[in-house]
Formats: sequence, structure tokens, C-alpha cells
Amino acid sequence: MSALQKAVFLDRDGTLIIDKVYLNDPEQIEYLPDVFEALRLLRDAGFIFLIATNQSGIARRLVEPVNLDETHRRMRAEFARHGVDLKAFYYAPYAVESNHWVRKPNPGMLLRGALDFRVDLEASWMLGDRYSDVEAGRRAGCRTGLLLGHESWPPSGTPSENLQWPDLACDGLLEMARQILAFERARAIVAN
Ligand SMILES: [Mg+2]
Repeated sequence: MSALQKAVFLDRDGTLIIDKVYLNDPEQIEYLPDVFEALRLLRDAGFIFLIATNQSGIARRLVEPVNLDETHRRMRAEFARHGVDLKAFYYAPYAVESNHWVRKPNPGMLLRGALDFRVDLEASWMLGDRYSDVEAGRRAGCRTGLLLGHESWPPSGTPSENLQWPDLACDGLLEMARQILAFERARAIVAN
């Protein structure tokens, strides 16, 4: 039996590309700064990449499935041009109110990815810009990283009782990648 792989699960909007809110035009893809370099660092550390994105715009008919597929095809091609293999895009097309088990903060997309790619969830990370990304990652049994911007850390105001604490919180995916590598090095030292 082959060994399990370690993965970085990635949110899409606000993590890899600018969150255009119901992006329905592949021409409107805009990559966030340093995302290619960030994923090359993590690639070199042995992680595979799986995308987990909520797309309630499908349920609301604001995003057409054919356009969503084309957006993901272009993203995969662009990352490949930069030496990064985005192995799979999982998306939750369900309405916000559905609380469908596949829609974040539920962990369904991560569990599906773990089954498809034989992922060791405890050795893996979920990265995103929402508390719901952190919650999904925690519930799947992963380490988690919160990209600051849409959400703050520590949280402002009175946090919801469902709020999960990320292992890391920082600005931008490149800084996140560097911190993950430092975290992994420290963990390897402690384990040996
Ligand atoms: Mg997001």
C-alpha cells in the first residue's frame, strides 16, 4: 500500500485570486500577490494542492457551471505554467442556508479530497481567508492557516462560540507558506 500524501487544501476566493463575489467571467480572474511563489515553496516541501471552494453562486444562478469549470481550467493552466500542479478543484454549489455537509464550514470537500488522493489529514493544512475555512480544516483534522484581510485575528467583538483558532494567522500566502515551513521544521525536530 502506498504511503499517504500530505496536502495543502486551499480556499479559492480571497486566497488564490481576488474575491470578485460570484465570479462568473473567467476573464476576470486576478491572482493575489506572490501566490505562485508561495505554492512553489510548499510544493518543494512535499505538499500536494487541492482546492476547496464554496460556490453558492451556482445555487443562486449567479454563476454558470460552464463558466466555473472554465475558471478552474484556466487557473490550473496558469499555476502549471508556474510549476504548480493544482490536483483537483472541489466546489460546493449549495446555498448558504443548506448547511450541506460539503459546504464549508463543514468538512466534506476536504474528506473527499483525502479519499481521492490518499491524504494524511493530520499532516495537512487548510488555508483560507474566512473563519469558515479554519473551521472546515479543524473539523477535517488538519492544521489551519487564516489569511488576514476579510477576517481579523484575534477576532474583533465577541467571537461566535463556533469560532475555531487557526494554527497560524498572517498577511498573504507567501508569508503563510514561510510560516508553515518553519512550523513543519520545528515539528520535525520535536518528533525526532
Ligand atoms: Mg475565501
